[in-house]
Amino acid sequence: MQVTQSSKLAGVLYDIRGPVLDEAMRLEEEGHRVLKLHTGNPAPFGFEAPPEVLQDIMRNLGQAHGYGDSKGLLSARRAVVQYYQTKNVAGLDVDDVYLGNGVSELIQMSMQALLDDGDEVLVPAPDYPLWTAAVSLSGGTAVHYLCDESSDWYPDLADIEAKITDRTRAIVVINPNNPTGAVYPDEVLSGIVEIARRNQLIVYSDEIYDKILYDGVRHTPTASFAPDLLCVTFNGLSKSYRVAGFRSGWMVVSGTKSHAAGYIEGLTMLANMRLCANVPAQHAIATSLGGHQSIEELVRPGGRLAEQRDVAHRLLTEIPGVTCVRPRGALYAFPRLDPKVYPIEDDQRMVLDLLRQEHILVVQGTGFNWPRPDHFRLTTLPRKEDLADAVTRIGEFLSRYAKV
Ligand code: PLP
Repeated sequence: MQVTQSSKLAGVLYDIRGPVLDEAMRLEEEGHRVLKLHTGNPAPFGFEAPPEVLQDIMRNLGQAHGYGDSKGLLSARRAVVQYYQTKNVAGLDVDDVYLGNGVSELIQMSMQALLDDGDEVLVPAPDYPLWTAAVSLSGGTAVHYLCDESSDWYPDLADIEAKITDRTRAIVVINPNNPTGAVYPDEVLSGIVEIARRNQLIVYSDEIYDKILYDGVRHTPTASFAPDLLCVTFNGLSKSYRVAGFRSGWMVVSGTKSHAAGYIEGLTMLANMRLCANVPAQHAIATSLGGHQSIEELVRPGGRLAEQRDVAHRLLTEIPGVTCVRPRGALYAFPRLDPKVYPIEDDQRMVLDLLRQEHILVVQGTGFNWPRPDHFRLTTLPRKEDLADAVTRIGEFLSRYAKV
């Protein structure tokens, strides 16, 4: 008898580590050097973790080999509460904070605890695809609202309103956004919160890039506009502190909770069932959030990440038929290939061709639930010289791909 996969996986997609990566690994086994621009993993590009973070993990390793509290170390959760106090999210208590093995685990728990079959969640298009996958796997339906490329990729509030039905339970905000690099201004965030308020929706705000901001833009937590709504905010150490492999993140439940005791009980039960998050990495949270923030040196003008963003954006937009909204945050660029110049029908095929011809790995736009095959995402983590080389070769590849 065939062992088939669960039907719950039908429609679940995670192309960032999908079939194109398998082909990249096959090419590497054949001895080719593949430039992997498919994930936002800082370590392989020479980004070091802050030394004080590593020291704190090592110093505490001797007392970190037992299971810990399901919600996480009290000192770490207190530091998370204090962090949000400084960002105008009031009324939080340590009990409102759940630590997890990265934001990824917490996203899945937050959806599993909420959804019944057929419940709908508004998710951005394009999105970080774990959100759509987590909704589907929990029995829900992800309904995509459009982010508008012609308006700096900000969410289209009219499209959000138009997609609300009597099954809509929640709205997901990813800010700063992956894959677009958009950072939303306060009016957009308060507009989304107002829609949630009118329609009694829960707000889920993924803010894992909240410190990776360029050009002096500011980040405001969505929850700071929503003291009267149930709001769940996600963040962690993977990006701003360059320790993605330690798997350390948190989720904070804020706002009005009196009507949500059942949901919160569900979250706590799921946290109990997975016993606890990786304990050594929890010891890094308080140190990370307090004091000097070394990411600031990387993102300010002239900083390594800011310069790399500049190089990628400039060179991409010099390719004929390619446009790209300037990323104001996060670690990616999401360029558009003009369909009149590049008549692409299958963007996975296109990124496979790029991989085989140039040994450069990027992710197709449809992998981010973008509805048309006219975008791709690359990370801006490589050094300037490597990025310049990669984008030049992408341009050469595209010139062969263009309509003649
Ligand atoms: N959310 C977004 C928007 C991301 O881009 C990522 C990783 O790329 C994650 C969540 C997952 O983060 P973590 O390493 O904390 O699981």
